Amino acid sequence: MMRLDKFLADMQRGSRAEVKKIIRSGTVTVNELPVKDPKTKVNPGQDVVAINGVIVQYIQFFYYLLNKPAGVITATKDEQAATVMTLLPKKWQRPDLFPVGRLDKDTTGLLLLTNDGELAHRLLSPRWHVAKVYTAGLDAAIGASEAVQFAQGVRLKDFTAAPAELVPLTHNRAQVTIHEGKFHQVKRMFGAVGRTVLTLKRVQFGPLALPADLREGHARPLTPAEIANLE
Ligand code: URA
Repeated sequence: MMRLDKFLADMQRGSRAEVKKIIRSGTVTVNELPVKDPKTKVNPGQDVVAINGVIVQYIQFFYYLLNKPAGVITATKDEQAATVMTLLPKKWQRPDLFPVGRLDKDTTGLLLLTNDGELAHRLLSPRWHVAKVYTAGLDAAIGASEAVQFAQGVRLKDFTAAPAELVPLTHNRAQVTIHEGKFHQVKRMFGAVGRTVLTLKRVQFGPLALPADLREGHARPLTPAEIANLE
């Protein structure tokens, strides 16, 4: 059970203050009976809540795809720097959203934000080997020999990276696919073959691809098809 005003705010019908006003105005019904008290308890997913006769569907999980710009931190809170959460439009912000995994401050591209803990756990679990695809801008050319090293598994200081796919794009740009997500992993893998990563952008995360028309710093809800693909 939850309070009616919380239910409507959670369903993005306005801020807590705004939905209280809506409820007091007498346009909200619960199971077809008018309700004017914001404290009224409702059972989400069971009670039928409507505003002006239009049913407010209960949604438990929210999913947003963000094109992260450089300069923001992948965290829910930070004292010093802006976090990825601040990039979401107000109407989509909720206290229970969090980023799935982490991109470095200077890394750009696809980041999933959700309140679905179980899904996040699965996507991040090493057992699932979810593919992450990045394009990297490098300080020097790479070729077949680096691709072979990536395919064999690059040895790093504290572990050996699982086989990764490295595809040269232009002379100093490459696409790399990894199935792990250790701290600074892509940068460290290039470091191990004598290259420095100058730019790093994630273009794919599991079944999700960064949409070509989603500008840096912008987010959009996942489509129902994208959500279905995640499950
Ligand atoms: N690998 C890195 O080195 N940095 C990222 O942000 C993501 C993968």
